[in-house]
Amino acid sequence: MTLERLQKVIAEAGIASRRKAEKMIVAGRVRVDGKLVTKLGTKVDTFSTITVDDEPIERESLHTYLFYKPRGVVSTAHDDKGRKTVVDYFDDLPYRLYPVGRLDYDTSGLLLMTNDGKLANLLMHPKNEVPKVYVAKIEGILEPDQIMTLKKGVKVDGRKCAPAKVKILKTNQKKNNQIVQLTIHEGHYHEVKRMFKAVGHPVEKLSRERYAFLDLHALTYGQYRELTREEVDRLK
Ligand code: URA
Repeated sequence: MTLERLQKVIAEAGIASRRKAEKMIVAGRVRVDGKLVTKLGTKVDTFSTITVDDEPIERESLHTYLFYKPRGVVSTAHDDKGRKTVVDYFDDLPYRLYPVGRLDYDTSGLLLMTNDGKLANLLMHPKNEVPKVYVAKIEGILEPDQIMTLKKGVKVDGRKCAPAKVKILKTNQKKNNQIVQLTIHEGHYHEVKRMFKAVGHPVEKLSRERYAFLDLHALTYGQYRELTREEVDRLK
């Protein structure tokens, strides 16, 4: 997330010169996410809503993309180890996009990328319970009681996960593995891998197939498409 000085953001929005923007801040005319800010040099992130005299300022136009994240890519804007990031795929676009949540480095699948901070916060808020559908290849074969545990809410490191939907897609007795579809609403760190591990079946491969009503449809690894206004409205 990029932080910028408040007066710079106001100036870039065409409201006033930087000098005048500073005066507006000191005069108590500016709010950031509803909070009055009078200190100069306050830094704000791309996602915050800024009002001048209670009028929200227009920042960048808002864009949201559905991206098919390949494995071997990090879902952060920067990586200390210099690995490829999801943001690199959007280099040609003039917007600064951020991922909505995370997929692990070795997880592929549907990831939303947006510069609409409000939408991102809304979608990531645990209360909103966006259903996410994952397909996991797991070691071993789930026993009926283990399926029941996942469905009821498995305990992971002392925390009870919300109930999940479980669908067995394929069982390979010879190779002793299974392809399982898991639908969850939460988005805790390594949630799916930890849930399967908690019932004794480590995940070998993971992909996210759906996010709310959205799926990957005709996209392939590394491709993206912009969401329509109707789709964005439906997500809200
Ligand atoms: N759960 C995980 O364990 N990994 C992901 O990438 C997403 C959900």
